[in-house]
Amino acid sequence: MRVAELYKKKRPVISMEFFPFRDDKTAESFNKTIDTLAPLNPDYMSVTFGAGGSTRDGSAQTIDTIMKEKMLPCVAYIAGYGLSPDEICKVLDQYQARGVETIFILRGDKPKETGFVPHPKSFAHASDLISFIQDHYDFNLGCAGYPEGHVEAQSLERDIEYLKLKVDNGAQYVVAQYFYDNAYFFNYERQCRKAGIDVPIIPGIMPVYTLKMTRALSKICGTKIPDVLAQKMDTIDGEDKAAVLDLGINFALDQCRELLEKGISGLHFYTMNRSHSTQKIIRQLKLEYLL
Ligand SMILES: Cc1cc2nc3c(=O)[nH]c(=O)nc-3n(C[C@H](O)[C@H](O)[C@H](O)COP(=O)(O)OP(=O)(O)OC[C@H]3O[C@@H](n4cnc5c(N)ncnc54)[C@H](O)[C@@H]3O)c2cc1C
Repeated sequence: MRVAELYKKKRPVISMEFFPFRDDKTAESFNKTIDTLAPLNPDYMSVTFGAGGSTRDGSAQTIDTIMKEKMLPCVAYIAGYGLSPDEICKVLDQYQARGVETIFILRGDKPKETGFVPHPKSFAHASDLISFIQDHYDFNLGCAGYPEGHVEAQSLERDIEYLKLKVDNGAQYVVAQYFYDNAYFFNYERQCRKAGIDVPIIPGIMPVYTLKMTRALSKICGTKIPDVLAQKMDTIDGEDKAAVLDLGINFALDQCRELLEKGISGLHFYTMNRSHSTQKIIRQLKLEYLL
């Protein structure tokens, strides 16, 4: 599926992101997750790619499961950090042979394992990798955006200048890092349009799955937890899994309602390979908005 074309034809496009399974056990639970979510008719699924190529094989297998076994459209990610142009081409050739038509391109981050030595010819920024892929392949291309600014960015304005470069170099749609305050997204979209970025910018939705995960990930990703959510998280028993999930579902639902009412192009769910919350949220949105 050529996703950038889909965003031109349909609104809202519903997508769901997964990380690759690692072994038979995680493959089994991944299968269950997909089987639970597929009946919601998402427009496409997407599969992440581990830093330094660590999930190269797992990403390919996971894509096969989605496309060949489940017969669902899938976007493949590639994170270029440390990889040589040849290594990148090997991964992309495999994706092309599998029938993947859209690639989501990231710089990625330094792998956690010590001892990883980046290839001297690796790409410094996602924009460079986008140019390279655009010159050598005929994929639809997507890239990441950061409504609160990327954690390393000098400023939001500078980060948006680099986003513009990614789009000028060939990215045809942007999926945003998740946020818990829609005001950041609306401001970001406004600033991007002012900067001349005219491709779809898709909000990323990450329901609260566990309090610990939300607090830890939000620090890493630079996502602020607004007071209204922080207070709800502080007053709930973190061990009460059902209550935490309900909190996450209800908060994300309110975010999605406001985003849909403002006419966004799509909703991208960071599933963390879990089905319960995404299923509940989309079911409810389908009832309310006839999606
Ligand atoms: C939707 C989404 C999906 C993701 N999936 C994955 C995944 O599958 N695998 C993975 O490893 N990571 C993933 N990430 C995380 C991502 O790799 C990190 O956030 C990474 O730190 C930045 O990647 P990028 O592509 O945004 O980098 P870039 O666009 O290169 O930006 C990185 C930093 O460099 C700055 N910058 C950009 N261009 C220039 C330039 N030309 N000169 C100077 N500075 C510049 C930017 O302002 C920013 O601070 C994902 C993130 C998002 C939002």
